[in-house]
Amino acid sequence: TYVIAQPCVDIKDRACVDECPVDCIYEGNRMLYIQPDECVDCGACEPVCPVEAIFYEDDTPDEWKDYYDANVHFFDDL
Ligand code: SF4
Repeated sequence: TYVIAQPCVDIKDRACVDECPVDCIYEGNRMLYIQPDECVDCGACEPVCPVEAIFYEDDTPDEWKDYYDANVHFFDDL
């Protein structure tokens, strides 16, 4: 899955939402989140993010690794 990390916080540009072919990017209070079970790893969202907040899970920078869990757990409560 792709993961949205810290640069999205309080930005929520939403360019990625328009690109996602399966509509698996959802809006939270302070950032957007990718539903990992729905993401098809197409990568379309990554280059359109103006703040470079989106990474393939294995490529997420170390300081933002916990955003993987944040993305996954966001959907636990829905
Ligand atoms: Fe959507 Fe593709 Fe991005 Fe996954 S990688 S969130 S399917 S645009």
